[in-house]
Amino acid sequence: MKEECICGMKRYGYTDGFHEVFLCYNCGSFIGSVGGDQLFGMLIKSNPEVVLKLIQAKMLIPIRDFYAE
Ligand SMILES: [Zn+2]
Repeated sequence: MKEECICGMKRYGYTDGFHEVFLCYNCGSFIGSVGGDQLFGMLIKSNPEVVLKLIQAKMLIPIRDFYAE
């Protein structure tokens, strides 16, 4: 399940409408579905802190908020 981390905690889903990232705040791991965008996939795998920066910059927003609009 993408919303349950291997550490047993909940992952929180974020999206920009194209990419989806599920992030665990407990252990810091994440999984993503990058919509075939290999560049984005490589970017966040090699620079995991980019995910947090994108969330802080609101370029990735919580999936629940995204679909509520
Ligand atoms: Zn975890």
